Amino acid sequence: MHHLVRDVFPERMSVSFEFFPPKEEQPIEPVLSTISTLRDKWNPDFMSVTYGAGGTNKGRNLELCAAIEKLSVPAVSHFTCIGNTREFIVDQLKALKENGIENILTLRGDLPAGWTGTNGDFSYAVDLAAFIKKTDPSFCLAGAISPEVHMRAKSLDHDIMYARRKKDAGVDFFMTQLFYDNDAFYRYRDRLYGAGADLPIDVGVMPVLKKDAIIKMTLMNGSAIPVELARIIGIYGDNPDDFKKAGMEYTVKHIADLVSNGIDGLHMFTLNKWEDVSEILTMAGVCF
Ligand code: FAD
Repeated sequence: MHHLVRDVFPERMSVSFEFFPPKEEQPIEPVLSTISTLRDKWNPDFMSVTYGAGGTNKGRNLELCAAIEKLSVPAVSHFTCIGNTREFIVDQLKALKENGIENILTLRGDLPAGWTGTNGDFSYAVDLAAFIKKTDPSFCLAGAISPEVHMRAKSLDHDIMYARRKKDAGVDFFMTQLFYDNDAFYRYRDRLYGAGADLPIDVGVMPVLKKDAIIKMTLMNGSAIPVELARIIGIYGDNPDDFKKAGMEYTVKHIADLVSNGIDGLHMFTLNKWEDVSEILTMAGVCF
């Protein structure tokens, strides 16, 4: 098992899972149990934990990453610019290292409602990545990309240019925002490569399980709902069981198409549950 995630891609398509830390007042055991079940079932290349930018449960990111490392699975800690000073970032890097965590997804973070900037020392993910690389070059860094172009980017060209800057700042691989329009992703990938931002791309897959959640998440991220998915919403939207069945079959096709188009990594957003994700991977015939 490679500990630095970047070392996996030259050998095989990576398979990984993402979790979010529960709120402070909620128990941590259910997600720990999900993590351990998915570890036993799939022996993934890594697991990542989101970072509740500006939230009170920031510490739980470290707690979950440390628990993942204890299971001998490399953890990727998401880390944002929101509210973070250079001093805090240096402390956080030390804490990550002390807990065996050597992979970080560098992000700007979603700005909490009413904020116009990050209220931290860095405004963009690229600056956070450059600072971490300078402070401790031993970390393996990921950067986010949005294959349908970040909602606030001025243009596709700007978006590609900022991705290229992430590579120049020392980012080792990209992780994508959710998307369902695979052709948009393939076009975006060609543009990235053409611009010299030729890093491995780990593709994030959000399983289609609940109508309202899919509509909310795609709209929030400015992502397209392809006609096949729109029809599933139209036909099965009023029946949660039928919707889930059709949504899972759709997700399996989405994954199969990505795999047959040579993606570097498949990153499943688990929503902290293991059953549906496992069933989807089994149906998709993803081998580990
Ligand atoms: P950036 O790359 O900094 O880009 C932000 C915007 O600024 C873009 O519009 C970009 O075009 C523009 N830009 C970038 N650099 C510059 C520059 N130098 N000058 C001017 N404009 C610039 N959020 C969380 O809070 N916690 C999480 O755990 C989390 N996990 C995520 C995981 C993945 C895989 C992805 C894709 C996103 C995640 N997010 C998370 C959401 C992310 O924080 C948001 O998408 C955020 O809006 C942008 O983050 P970024 O790192 O892409 O930002």
